[in-house]
Amino acid sequence: MKEVIGANKCIGCGVCIAVCPRQCISMQEDAEGFLQPVIDGSRCVDCGKCRQSCPQLSIRKDANRAPLLVRGGSARDPDLLKQASSGAIFPLLAKQVLSRGGVVFGAAFTSSLSVAHIRAETWVDCQRLFGSKYVQSDLGNIFSQVKEDLLNSRWVLFAGAPCQVAALRSYLASMDVTRLLCVDFICHGVPSPKLWRDYLAWLKQKYHSPVTGCSFRDKEHGWRAFSFAMQFADGRKLVQDHRDDLYFRLFVSNCCLRLTCYNCQYKTLGHIADITLGDFWGVWKKYPGLDDDRGTSLIFAHSSKGVEFLSAIAEELNWQDVDLKFSLKKNPPAIKSVSMPLARKTFFIDYPLVEFSSLIRWYAKKHTRMEKILCLFKKMLQQRRLEAIKSYSALE
Ligand SMILES: Cc1cc2nc3c(=O)[nH]c(=O)nc-3n(C[C@H](O)[C@H](O)[C@H](O)COP(=O)(O)OP(=O)(O)OC[C@H]3O[C@@H](n4cnc5c(N)ncnc54)[C@H](O)[C@@H]3O)c2cc1C
Ligand code: SF4
Ligand code: SF4
Ligand code: SF4
Repeated sequence: MKEVIGANKCIGCGVCIAVCPRQCISMQEDAEGFLQPVIDGSRCVDCGKCRQSCPQLSIRKDANRAPLLVRGGSARDPDLLKQASSGAIFPLLAKQVLSRGGVVFGAAFTSSLSVAHIRAETWVDCQRLFGSKYVQSDLGNIFSQVKEDLLNSRWVLFAGAPCQVAALRSYLASMDVTRLLCVDFICHGVPSPKLWRDYLAWLKQKYHSPVTGCSFRDKEHGWRAFSFAMQFADGRKLVQDHRDDLYFRLFVSNCCLRLTCYNCQYKTLGHIADITLGDFWGVWKKYPGLDDDRGTSLIFAHSSKGVEFLSAIAEELNWQDVDLKFSLKKNPPAIKSVSMPLARKTFFIDYPLVEFSSLIRWYAKKHTRMEKILCLFKKMLQQRRLEAIKSYSALE
Protein backbone atom coordinates (compact mmCIF):
# COMPACT_ATOMS: atom_id res chain seq x y z
CA MET A 1 0.00 0.00 0.00
CA LYS A 2 1.46 3.36 -1.06
CA GLU A 3 1.17 6.23 1.44
CA VAL A 4 1.62 9.97 1.03
CA ILE A 5 3.42 10.59 4.35
CA GLY A 6 2.33 7.77 6.67
CA ALA A 7 -0.03 7.56 9.64
CA ASN A 8 2.50 8.94 12.14
CA LYS A 9 2.43 12.30 10.40
CA CYS A 10 -0.85 12.47 8.51
CA ILE A 11 -3.72 14.55 9.95
CA GLY A 12 -6.26 13.22 7.42
CA CYS A 13 -7.03 16.62 5.89
CA GLY A 14 -7.44 15.45 2.28
CA VAL A 15 -5.45 18.26 0.63
CA CYS A 16 -3.36 15.65 -1.21
CA ILE A 17 -6.55 14.16 -2.67
CA ALA A 18 -7.74 17.56 -3.87
CA VAL A 19 -4.48 18.38 -5.68
CA CYS A 20 -3.63 15.00 -7.22
CA PRO A 21 -3.84 15.43 -11.02
CA ARG A 22 -4.48 11.69 -11.51
CA GLN A 23 -7.23 11.45 -8.86
CA CYS A 24 -5.50 8.35 -7.62
CA ILE A 25 -5.68 9.01 -3.86
CA SER A 26 -8.67 7.92 -1.81
CA MET A 27 -9.48 8.36 1.86
CA GLN A 28 -9.89 5.13 3.78
CA GLU A 29 -10.55 4.39 7.42
CA ASP A 30 -7.58 2.66 9.07
CA ALA A 31 -7.79 -0.07 11.70
CA GLU A 32 -7.99 2.57 14.47
CA GLY A 33 -10.87 4.33 12.75
CA PHE A 34 -9.00 7.41 11.50
CA LEU A 35 -9.13 8.54 7.87
CA GLN A 36 -5.89 8.01 5.94
CA PRO A 37 -5.12 8.77 2.28
CA VAL A 38 -4.18 5.72 0.22
CA ILE A 39 -2.51 5.97 -3.20
CA ASP A 40 -3.44 3.69 -6.07
CA GLY A 41 0.16 2.92 -7.05
CA SER A 42 -0.83 1.66 -10.50
CA ARG A 43 -2.09 5.13 -11.50
CA CYS A 44 0.36 7.37 -9.63
CA VAL A 45 2.90 9.13 -11.88
CA ASP A 46 5.15 10.29 -9.01
CA CYS A 47 4.63 13.97 -9.80
CA GLY A 48 5.06 14.84 -6.09
CA LYS A 49 2.16 17.34 -5.99
CA CYS A 50 0.55 15.59 -3.02
CA ARG A 51 3.64 15.99 -0.86
CA GLN A 52 4.27 19.55 -2.04
CA SER A 53 0.81 20.62 -0.80
CA CYS A 54 0.80 18.56 2.38
CA PRO A 55 0.54 20.93 5.38
CA GLN A 56 2.48 18.49 7.54
CA LEU A 57 5.54 18.92 5.34
CA SER A 58 5.44 22.69 5.06
CA ILE A 59 7.70 24.96 7.09
CA ARG A 60 5.90 27.14 9.63
CA LYS A 61 6.81 30.84 9.66
CA ASP A 62 4.27 31.90 12.25
CA ALA A 63 5.19 29.50 15.08
CA ASN A 64 7.17 31.86 17.29
CA ARG A 65 5.03 34.95 16.78
CA ALA A 66 3.39 36.17 20.02
CA PRO A 67 -0.36 36.86 19.81
CA LEU A 68 -1.29 40.49 19.03
CA LEU A 69 -3.95 40.41 21.69
CA VAL A 70 -4.81 38.12 24.62
CA ARG A 71 -8.27 38.49 26.05
CA GLY A 72 -10.74 36.79 28.35
CA GLY A 73 -14.41 37.15 27.54
CA SER A 74 -17.90 35.80 27.21
CA ALA A 75 -21.00 36.70 25.24
CA ARG A 76 -23.61 38.82 27.02
CA ASP A 77 -26.41 36.77 25.43
CA PRO A 78 -27.29 33.93 27.87
CA ASP A 79 -28.86 31.79 25.11
CA LEU A 80 -25.65 31.80 23.10
CA LEU A 81 -23.65 30.92 26.21
CA LYS A 82 -25.91 27.93 26.80
CA GLN A 83 -25.29 26.56 23.31
CA ALA A 84 -21.53 27.13 23.18
CA SER A 85 -18.72 25.32 24.99
CA SER A 86 -16.96 28.24 26.60
CA GLY A 87 -17.68 31.96 26.19
CA ALA A 88 -19.60 31.75 22.87
CA ILE A 89 -17.05 33.78 20.93
CA PHE A 90 -17.38 31.53 17.90
CA PRO A 91 -21.18 32.12 17.62
CA LEU A 92 -20.62 35.90 17.79
CA LEU A 93 -17.98 35.73 15.06
CA ALA A 94 -20.31 33.58 12.96
CA LYS A 95 -23.09 36.15 13.38
CA GLN A 96 -20.69 38.91 12.36
CA VAL A 97 -19.65 37.06 9.18
CA LEU A 98 -23.29 36.30 8.25
CA SER A 99 -24.12 40.00 8.70
CA ARG A 100 -21.46 40.76 6.06
CA GLY A 101 -23.21 38.42 3.62
CA GLY A 102 -20.71 35.66 4.32
CA VAL A 103 -20.76 31.91 4.94
CA VAL A 104 -19.53 29.88 7.88
CA PHE A 105 -17.77 26.51 7.86
CA GLY A 106 -17.35 24.34 10.94
CA ALA A 107 -17.94 20.95 12.52
CA ALA A 108 -21.49 19.65 12.99
CA PHE A 109 -23.22 16.43 13.97
CA THR A 110 -24.70 14.61 10.97
CA SER A 111 -28.03 12.79 11.16
CA SER A 112 -26.21 9.67 12.39
CA LEU A 113 -24.30 11.80 14.96
CA SER A 114 -20.95 11.37 13.26
CA VAL A 115 -19.00 14.64 13.01
CA ALA A 116 -18.25 16.39 9.71
CA HIS A 117 -17.50 19.88 8.48
CA ILE A 118 -20.46 21.62 6.85
CA ARG A 119 -21.20 24.94 5.14
CA ALA A 120 -23.71 27.21 6.89
CA GLU A 121 -25.35 30.18 5.25
CA THR A 122 -28.15 30.84 7.74
CA TRP A 123 -28.24 31.37 11.49
CA VAL A 124 -30.21 28.12 11.93
CA ASP A 125 -27.51 26.12 10.12
CA CYS A 126 -24.80 27.96 12.07
CA GLN A 127 -26.29 26.73 15.32
CA ARG A 128 -25.38 23.17 14.29
CA LEU A 129 -21.73 24.22 14.56
CA PHE A 130 -21.96 25.49 18.13
CA GLY A 131 -20.31 23.43 20.84
CA SER A 132 -17.22 21.21 20.87
CA LYS A 133 -17.49 17.71 19.47
CA TYR A 134 -14.77 15.51 20.88
CA VAL A 135 -14.17 13.37 17.83
CA GLN A 136 -12.19 14.03 14.66
CA SER A 137 -14.34 15.80 12.12
CA ASP A 138 -14.48 14.54 8.52
CA LEU A 139 -13.50 17.40 6.19
CA GLY A 140 -14.81 15.67 3.04
CA ASN A 141 -14.48 18.13 0.15
CA ILE A 142 -15.12 21.21 2.31
CA PHE A 143 -11.96 23.02 1.16
CA SER A 144 -13.19 23.21 -2.42
CA GLN A 145 -16.46 24.75 -1.15
CA VAL A 146 -14.46 27.37 0.78
CA LYS A 147 -12.50 28.12 -2.38
CA GLU A 148 -15.66 28.56 -4.42
CA ASP A 149 -17.12 31.02 -1.91
CA LEU A 150 -13.89 33.03 -1.88
CA LEU A 151 -13.86 33.08 -5.68
CA ASN A 152 -17.40 34.49 -5.47
CA SER A 153 -16.04 37.27 -3.21
CA ARG A 154 -18.01 36.10 -0.16
CA TRP A 155 -16.73 36.55 3.37
CA VAL A 156 -15.84 33.11 4.76
CA LEU A 157 -15.38 32.04 8.36
CA PHE A 158 -13.64 28.68 8.61
CA ALA A 159 -13.40 27.11 12.07
CA GLY A 160 -11.55 23.94 12.91
CA ALA A 161 -8.63 22.36 14.72
CA PRO A 162 -5.29 24.17 14.19
CA CYS A 163 -4.08 21.43 11.83
CA GLN A 164 -7.28 21.74 9.76
CA VAL A 165 -6.81 25.50 9.45
CA ALA A 166 -3.18 24.93 8.41
CA ALA A 167 -4.41 22.45 5.80
CA LEU A 168 -6.95 24.92 4.40
CA ARG A 169 -4.32 27.66 4.14
CA SER A 170 -2.00 25.24 2.38
CA TYR A 171 -4.78 24.32 -0.08
CA LEU A 172 -5.48 28.01 -0.75
CA ALA A 173 -1.78 28.94 -0.96
CA SER A 174 -2.06 30.78 -4.26
CA MET A 175 -5.40 32.51 -3.56
CA ASP A 176 -6.42 35.92 -2.30
CA VAL A 177 -7.58 35.21 1.25
CA THR A 178 -8.46 38.78 2.28
CA ARG A 179 -12.06 37.72 2.95
CA LEU A 180 -11.17 34.54 4.81
CA LEU A 181 -11.33 34.57 8.61
CA CYS A 182 -9.81 31.45 10.18
CA VAL A 183 -10.65 30.50 13.74
CA ASP A 184 -9.04 27.57 15.51
CA PHE A 185 -9.02 26.41 19.11
CA ILE A 186 -6.65 25.23 21.78
CA CYS A 187 -6.68 21.57 20.91
CA HIS A 188 -6.32 18.68 23.33
CA GLY A 189 -6.46 16.18 20.44
CA VAL A 190 -9.12 14.20 18.59
CA PRO A 191 -10.43 10.69 19.32
CA SER A 192 -11.18 8.06 16.70
CA PRO A 193 -14.47 8.43 14.79
CA LYS A 194 -14.88 4.63 14.89
CA LEU A 195 -14.69 4.67 18.69
CA TRP A 196 -17.42 7.34 18.76
CA ARG A 197 -19.61 5.30 16.36
CA ASP A 198 -19.17 2.16 18.43
CA TYR A 199 -19.89 4.09 21.61
CA LEU A 200 -23.20 5.33 20.17
CA ALA A 201 -24.10 1.76 19.16
CA TRP A 202 -23.22 0.55 22.68
CA LEU A 203 -25.41 3.26 24.25
CA LYS A 204 -28.28 2.25 21.99
CA GLN A 205 -27.99 -1.32 23.19
CA LYS A 206 -27.60 -0.32 26.84
CA TYR A 207 -30.57 2.08 26.92
CA HIS A 208 -32.73 0.19 24.36
CA SER A 209 -33.12 3.34 22.31
CA PRO A 210 -30.90 5.15 19.78
CA VAL A 211 -29.18 8.40 20.72
CA THR A 212 -30.68 11.21 18.65
CA GLY A 213 -28.85 14.23 20.05
CA CYS A 214 -25.80 14.91 22.10
CA SER A 215 -23.84 17.67 23.81
CA PHE A 216 -20.32 17.12 25.06
CA ARG A 217 -20.46 20.42 26.92
CA ASP A 218 -23.88 20.73 28.52
CA LYS A 219 -23.96 23.59 31.06
CA GLU A 220 -27.04 22.56 33.05
CA HIS A 221 -24.79 22.20 36.11
CA GLY A 222 -22.41 24.98 35.12
CA TRP A 223 -19.44 25.47 32.82
CA ARG A 224 -16.75 24.24 35.20
CA ALA A 225 -18.49 20.99 36.14
CA PHE A 226 -19.89 20.58 32.65
CA SER A 227 -22.01 17.57 31.73
CA PHE A 228 -22.23 15.11 28.90
CA ALA A 229 -25.86 15.12 27.72
CA MET A 230 -27.62 12.62 25.51
CA GLN A 231 -31.09 12.66 24.05
CA PHE A 232 -32.69 9.30 23.21
CA ALA A 233 -35.31 8.52 20.57
CA ASP A 234 -37.80 7.43 23.25
CA GLY A 235 -37.69 10.93 24.79
CA ARG A 236 -35.33 10.21 27.67
CA LYS A 237 -32.47 12.62 28.38
CA LEU A 238 -29.35 11.55 30.21
CA VAL A 239 -27.22 14.31 31.73
CA GLN A 240 -24.19 13.19 33.66
CA ASP A 241 -21.05 14.79 34.99
CA HIS A 242 -18.44 14.52 32.22
CA ARG A 243 -16.11 12.69 34.61
CA ASP A 244 -18.68 9.86 34.87
CA ASP A 245 -19.00 9.34 31.13
CA LEU A 246 -16.87 6.49 29.76
CA TYR A 247 -16.26 8.11 26.37
CA PHE A 248 -15.17 11.36 27.95
CA ARG A 249 -12.84 9.50 30.29
CA LEU A 250 -11.27 7.70 27.34
CA PHE A 251 -10.81 11.08 25.64
CA VAL A 252 -9.01 12.71 28.57
CA SER A 253 -7.01 9.56 29.34
CA ASN A 254 -5.45 10.11 25.88
CA CYS A 255 -5.59 6.45 24.88
CA CYS A 256 -7.68 7.01 21.74
CA LEU A 257 -6.30 10.13 20.02
CA ARG A 258 -4.96 10.40 16.49
CA LEU A 259 -1.23 9.62 16.38
CA THR A 260 -0.34 13.14 15.25
CA CYS A 261 -1.92 14.61 18.39
CA TYR A 262 0.95 13.30 20.53
CA ASN A 263 3.49 15.21 18.50
CA CYS A 264 1.45 18.11 17.24
CA GLN A 265 3.32 20.83 15.42
CA TYR A 266 0.64 23.42 16.19
CA LYS A 267 1.41 23.66 19.91
CA THR A 268 2.96 27.05 19.45
CA LEU A 269 2.08 30.57 20.55
CA GLY A 270 1.80 31.70 16.96
CA HIS A 271 -1.05 30.19 14.93
CA ILE A 272 -1.90 30.21 11.24
CA ALA A 273 -5.48 31.12 12.21
CA ASP A 274 -6.53 34.75 12.74
CA ILE A 275 -8.10 33.92 16.09
CA THR A 276 -7.60 31.07 18.57
CA LEU A 277 -10.26 30.24 21.16
CA GLY A 278 -10.13 28.11 24.28
CA ASP A 279 -11.69 27.59 27.68
CA PHE A 280 -10.28 30.08 30.14
CA TRP A 281 -9.74 27.54 32.91
CA GLY A 282 -8.57 29.18 36.14
CA VAL A 283 -10.02 32.58 35.18
CA TRP A 284 -11.81 32.81 38.55
CA LYS A 285 -8.48 33.01 40.38
CA LYS A 286 -7.21 36.21 38.80
CA TYR A 287 -10.16 37.72 36.93
CA PRO A 288 -13.28 36.82 38.97
CA GLY A 289 -15.24 39.55 37.19
CA LEU A 290 -15.01 37.49 33.99
CA ASP A 291 -16.47 34.35 35.52
CA ASP A 292 -20.08 33.53 36.39
CA ASP A 293 -19.74 29.81 35.62
CA ARG A 294 -21.66 30.16 32.36
CA GLY A 295 -18.47 29.93 30.27
CA THR A 296 -15.46 32.16 29.69
CA SER A 297 -13.24 32.02 26.63
CA LEU A 298 -9.57 32.61 26.29
CA ILE A 299 -9.06 34.56 23.08
CA PHE A 300 -5.87 35.10 21.08
CA ALA A 301 -5.75 37.31 17.98
CA HIS A 302 -2.87 36.54 15.64
CA SER A 303 -3.53 38.97 12.78
CA SER A 304 -4.90 42.46 12.22
CA LYS A 305 -7.97 40.82 10.64
CA GLY A 306 -8.50 38.89 13.86
CA VAL A 307 -8.19 42.09 15.90
CA GLU A 308 -10.66 43.85 13.61
CA PHE A 309 -13.28 41.09 14.01
CA LEU A 310 -12.85 41.07 17.79
CA SER A 311 -13.44 44.84 17.84
CA ALA A 312 -16.57 44.32 15.75
CA ILE A 313 -18.08 41.96 18.36
CA ALA A 314 -16.66 43.74 21.45
CA GLU A 315 -19.97 45.39 22.39
CA GLU A 316 -21.66 42.01 22.63
CA LEU A 317 -19.02 40.74 25.04
CA ASN A 318 -17.99 41.08 28.63
CA TRP A 319 -14.20 41.13 28.17
CA GLN A 320 -10.84 42.35 29.36
CA ASP A 321 -7.22 42.00 28.28
CA VAL A 322 -5.43 39.34 30.31
CA ASP A 323 -1.93 38.19 31.14
CA LEU A 324 -0.58 35.66 28.62
CA LYS A 325 1.55 33.75 31.11
CA PHE A 326 -1.34 33.30 33.53
CA SER A 327 -3.73 32.27 30.76
CA LEU A 328 -1.44 29.43 29.67
CA LYS A 329 -0.90 28.10 33.18
CA LYS A 330 -4.16 26.14 33.36
CA ASN A 331 -4.21 25.27 29.69
CA PRO A 332 -1.12 23.22 28.83
CA PRO A 333 -2.61 21.89 25.54
CA ALA A 334 -2.14 25.43 24.18
CA ILE A 335 1.60 24.94 23.89
CA LYS A 336 2.30 21.29 24.61
CA SER A 337 1.11 18.03 23.07
CA VAL A 338 -0.36 15.48 25.44
CA SER A 339 2.08 12.65 26.07
CA MET A 340 1.28 9.23 24.73
CA PRO A 341 0.32 6.94 27.59
CA LEU A 342 1.18 3.29 27.58
CA ALA A 343 -2.54 2.60 27.22
CA ARG A 344 -2.48 4.21 23.73
CA LYS A 345 -0.17 1.44 22.64
CA THR A 346 -2.47 -1.35 23.82
CA PHE A 347 -5.93 0.21 23.34
CA PHE A 348 -6.13 -0.26 19.58
CA ILE A 349 -4.51 -3.70 19.76
CA ASP A 350 -7.15 -4.82 22.26
CA TYR A 351 -9.98 -3.06 20.42
CA PRO A 352 -10.89 -5.87 17.98
CA LEU A 353 -10.06 -8.59 20.50
CA VAL A 354 -12.07 -7.56 23.55
CA GLU A 355 -15.82 -7.10 23.92
CA PHE A 356 -16.53 -3.34 23.57
CA SER A 357 -18.19 -2.89 26.95
CA SER A 358 -15.26 -4.48 28.82
CA LEU A 359 -12.75 -2.61 26.68
CA ILE A 360 -14.07 0.86 27.41
CA ARG A 361 -14.67 0.14 31.09
CA TRP A 362 -11.11 -1.11 31.48
CA TYR A 363 -9.45 1.76 29.64
CA ALA A 364 -11.64 4.43 31.23
CA LYS A 365 -10.66 3.18 34.68
CA LYS A 366 -7.89 4.78 36.73
CA HIS A 367 -5.24 2.06 36.87
CA THR A 368 -2.98 1.03 39.71
CA ARG A 369 0.77 0.79 39.17
CA MET A 370 0.56 -2.99 39.09
CA GLU A 371 -2.13 -2.91 36.39
CA LYS A 372 0.04 -0.58 34.31
CA ILE A 373 2.99 -2.97 34.60
CA LEU A 374 0.74 -5.87 33.58
CA CYS A 375 -0.37 -3.87 30.52
CA LEU A 376 3.22 -3.27 29.52
CA PHE A 377 4.01 -6.95 29.95
CA LYS A 378 0.98 -7.87 27.86
CA LYS A 379 2.06 -5.53 25.09
CA MET A 380 5.57 -7.02 25.06
CA LEU A 381 4.09 -10.51 24.77
CA GLN A 382 1.81 -9.40 21.94
CA GLN A 383 4.77 -7.90 20.09
CA ARG A 384 6.77 -11.09 20.55
CA ARG A 385 3.85 -13.10 19.17
CA LEU A 386 3.56 -10.83 16.10
CA GLU A 387 7.31 -11.03 15.47
CA ALA A 388 7.19 -14.83 15.76
CA ILE A 389 4.31 -14.99 13.26
CA LYS A 390 6.18 -12.70 10.83
CA SER A 391 9.48 -14.58 11.01
CA TYR A 392 7.67 -17.91 10.62
CA SER A 393 5.89 -16.73 7.46
CA ALA A 394 9.21 -15.36 6.11
CA LEU A 395 10.70 -18.86 6.46
CA GLU A 396 7.83 -20.55 4.62
C1 LIG B 1 -11.58 18.29 19.93
C2 LIG B 1 -11.48 19.56 20.72
C3 LIG B 1 -10.53 19.69 21.72
C4 LIG B 1 -10.44 20.88 22.45
N1 LIG B 1 -9.49 20.97 23.44
C5 LIG B 1 -9.41 22.10 24.17
C6 LIG B 1 -8.45 22.23 25.22
O1 LIG B 1 -7.69 21.30 25.51
N2 LIG B 1 -8.39 23.40 25.92
C7 LIG B 1 -9.21 24.44 25.62
O2 LIG B 1 -9.12 25.48 26.27
N3 LIG B 1 -10.13 24.36 24.63
C8 LIG B 1 -10.25 23.22 23.91
N4 LIG B 1 -11.18 23.13 22.89
C9 LIG B 1 -11.93 24.35 22.50
C10 LIG B 1 -13.13 24.69 23.35
O3 LIG B 1 -13.78 23.50 23.76
C11 LIG B 1 -14.14 25.55 22.57
O4 LIG B 1 -14.48 24.92 21.37
C12 LIG B 1 -13.61 26.89 22.20
O5 LIG B 1 -13.26 27.55 23.38
C13 LIG B 1 -14.66 27.72 21.43
O6 LIG B 1 -15.77 27.87 22.23
P1 LIG B 1 -16.91 28.94 22.00
O7 LIG B 1 -17.74 28.95 23.24
O8 LIG B 1 -16.36 30.24 21.54
O9 LIG B 1 -17.77 28.42 20.77
P2 LIG B 1 -18.36 27.00 20.43
O10 LIG B 1 -19.72 27.19 19.89
O11 LIG B 1 -18.20 26.04 21.51
O12 LIG B 1 -17.39 26.63 19.22
C14 LIG B 1 -17.40 25.45 18.61
C15 LIG B 1 -16.44 25.57 17.45
O13 LIG B 1 -15.59 24.46 17.44
C16 LIG B 1 -15.67 23.81 16.18
N5 LIG B 1 -15.60 22.39 16.44
C17 LIG B 1 -16.35 21.68 17.29
N6 LIG B 1 -15.98 20.39 17.27
C18 LIG B 1 -14.99 20.29 16.36
C19 LIG B 1 -14.23 19.21 15.87
N7 LIG B 1 -14.39 17.97 16.31
N8 LIG B 1 -13.30 19.46 14.92
C20 LIG B 1 -13.12 20.72 14.43
N9 LIG B 1 -13.83 21.79 14.87
C21 LIG B 1 -14.74 21.57 15.83
C22 LIG B 1 -17.03 24.21 15.60
O14 LIG B 1 -16.95 24.19 14.20
C23 LIG B 1 -17.16 25.62 16.13
O15 LIG B 1 -16.46 26.46 15.30
C24 LIG B 1 -11.32 21.96 22.17
C25 LIG B 1 -12.28 21.81 21.17
C26 LIG B 1 -12.38 20.63 20.45
C27 LIG B 1 -13.42 20.50 19.38
S1 SF4 C 1 2.65 11.70 -6.74
FE1 SF4 C 1 1.25 12.85 -8.09
S2 SF4 C 1 0.04 11.29 -9.13
FE2 SF4 C 1 1.04 10.29 -7.41
S3 SF4 C 1 -0.45 10.38 -5.79
FE3 SF4 C 1 0.86 12.16 -5.54
S4 SF4 C 1 -0.17 13.78 -6.65
FE4 SF4 C 1 -1.09 11.85 -7.31
S1 SF4 D 1 -2.21 16.34 2.67
FE1 SF4 D 1 -3.32 15.89 4.57
S2 SF4 D 1 -4.30 13.89 4.18
FE2 SF4 D 1 -2.69 14.16 2.64
S3 SF4 D 1 -0.89 13.20 3.53
FE3 SF4 D 1 -0.77 15.36 4.06
S4 SF4 D 1 -1.74 15.48 6.07
FE4 SF4 D 1 -2.33 13.51 5.19
S1 SF4 E 1 -3.78 18.02 18.59
FE1 SF4 E 1 -2.79 18.85 16.77
S2 SF4 E 1 -2.83 17.18 15.27
FE2 SF4 E 1 -4.33 16.68 16.86
S3 SF4 E 1 -6.26 17.48 16.04
FE3 SF4 E 1 -5.37 19.05 17.39
S4 SF4 E 1 -4.22 20.35 16.00
FE4 SF4 E 1 -4.62 18.46 14.90
